Amino acid sequence: MRKTRRHGLILSIICLPFSLMIALHASPAVLGKVLISPNEIEKYSNLSTSVAHIKVHTINANENGSPLGVDSNRVIVINFDDSYKNQFTNAKPILDRYGFKATFFEVCDWINSKSEDDEMMTWKDIAELYKQGHDIEAHTMTHPHLDKLSSSELEYEIGQSKRCLLDHGINSTIFAYPYGEGWDNPEVVNIVSKYFDLARTNRDTPLTFLNCGDTMGGYAPDQPSCSTYPDNDILVGRYAINSWSHRHIEGDYSTADQRCEGACTYYNNSQMFEKFVEVVNSQDKYNTNGSMVAIPIVVYHTIVSDHDLTNSKRPVDITVNLFEEEMRYLHDNGFKVLLMSDLINDSI
Ligand SMILES: [Zn+2]
Repeated sequence: MRKTRRHGLILSIICLPFSLMIALHASPAVLGKVLISPNEIEKYSNLSTSVAHIKVHTINANENGSPLGVDSNRVIVINFDDSYKNQFTNAKPILDRYGFKATFFEVCDWINSKSEDDEMMTWKDIAELYKQGHDIEAHTMTHPHLDKLSSSELEYEIGQSKRCLLDHGINSTIFAYPYGEGWDNPEVVNIVSKYFDLARTNRDTPLTFLNCGDTMGGYAPDQPSCSTYPDNDILVGRYAINSWSHRHIEGDYSTADQRCEGACTYYNNSQMFEKFVEVVNSQDKYNTNGSMVAIPIVVYHTIVSDHDLTNSKRPVDITVNLFEEEMRYLHDNGFKVLLMSDLINDSI
């Protein structure tokens, strides 16, 4: 998948970590550190002052001493990207049924628009989501490939996307990279760091670890570094938060229309449900003995009304019935649903 990303194509999966560590007895729990090595500090000036700590500030011990207020240690963050109207019309009623709140990453110029294939949310929809406690965050102005832009274009896409939301009364502190691209590009990350506290990307593993490096105590053997930029091809950091994108077609994606081209693997709804269960439960290995060190972030895009995906050529489509089944699974298994804004940067 990394290979496909280097070729400017889209990744199928995401998710990752940076450094948070949490002792669930604490209130709030300190999740850990994102460290930047001295040579990187020199290289990436905007980040030079930060040794960041990350907290999950909504997790508090309850009266029974159960840190999450539920019967299990399991947590999840639900994301929706790209401002599709069907997130509001199809997914929100299901979220409401289970009392879940989600994080929506908006593409400012797409809001209030409509094409032959897609209708996007209106500012009124977004205001309604925000009012009801959902988290609204930034995903650029036009959803470009950030790696291909000049400095001034980056300033516009990243900085203006924050201002655009501010103009609508929303103070976004978290950014998501379109196509999961740019998290390993210092020029991009420097500009992101001017406007945002955290940024989410798409990588190859499904968990975001809340701690990293030497202090991980073996929790994340594939995450030995806390650096913000790649170190031995491994990256962790508050500007490279990982996630898993829900895609029913895997392969090389066209940069033009996000369709799979060439060798593509298709998954039906029951196979996708199995994948989902595997992803959200992958934290079990790490979140033991009342502590939480890893969080899965699942990203949805288009929630379509079709009963199955036989005719869907778009990898990010998910049917309403499968989305409902996944939310029911989270509910029935005691998952605590967090927002991206529950992950806060605590720089010192
Ligand atoms: Zn996107």
